[in-house]
Amino acid sequence: QPSPKQEEDYGYDLFPERNAPKKYKKGSIGESLFTFSHKCQVMLQFAMETSPYAKLLLSAMKSSGCKVFKDRHFSCEDCDGTVSGGFDAASSQIVLCQNNIHQQAHMNRVVTHELIHAFDHCRAHVDWFSNLRHLACSEIRAANLSGDCAFQNEAARFNFGLEKHHQECVRGRALRSILAVRNIGREEAAKIVDEVFDTCFNDHAPFGRIPHGKKDAKFACRDYENRDRYYANI
Ligand SMILES: [Zn+2]
Repeated sequence: QPSPKQEEDYGYDLFPERNAPKKYKKGSIGESLFTFSHKCQVMLQFAMETSPYAKLLLSAMKSSGCKVFKDRHFSCEDCDGTVSGGFDAASSQIVLCQNNIHQQAHMNRVVTHELIHAFDHCRAHVDWFSNLRHLACSEIRAANLSGDCAFQNEAARFNFGLEKHHQECVRGRALRSILAVRNIGREEAAKIVDEVFDTCFNDHAPFGRIPHGKKDAKFACRDYENRDRYYANI
């Protein structure tokens, strides 16, 4: 049982075994959950249509033969603690925590983060549960490419410089994500993250580069969509 999470905006899970969604009876709780669920659906739709990160990942998955369907592959649910979302490898479903996601920008980040896990799941045989290096690698990529580590923190940027800060942020988030879902010690987890860090940090697929913000993601998305046209001209 993972301990309650204290850090703000923390917690992306790869569910070891997800419980079936709870059923609610009619009444005030049910109604407010319906509202949450409706809002979650609306924000999800908006993310899929407007976020350049999400759009790129969705079209990359489609061309890899893993087309994502909103109704089948996403599920808005209530989650424990401050968890924002997760990828359920067993059902290939992305869970969005409707009780913890209240803003569109947050929804965009969670959708992107989980789509990176789904992309990894699609393109490679990832052994999420017994190979911690696989898990670590996907967490590094998700933190690196999703905008989770975009600069909210100006002070950190001045202290470490842009690249250094970004790397440390990615390392830290990957480590915390692993600790949240696997019962191993911090030292062991850190060792695994270090072992795969360079390889996985430098794997930017399908973005082609690290998107340090919406603008970068837009360019990456445009490049991706134009790649077939480029080859068609040769
Ligand atoms: Zn993750």
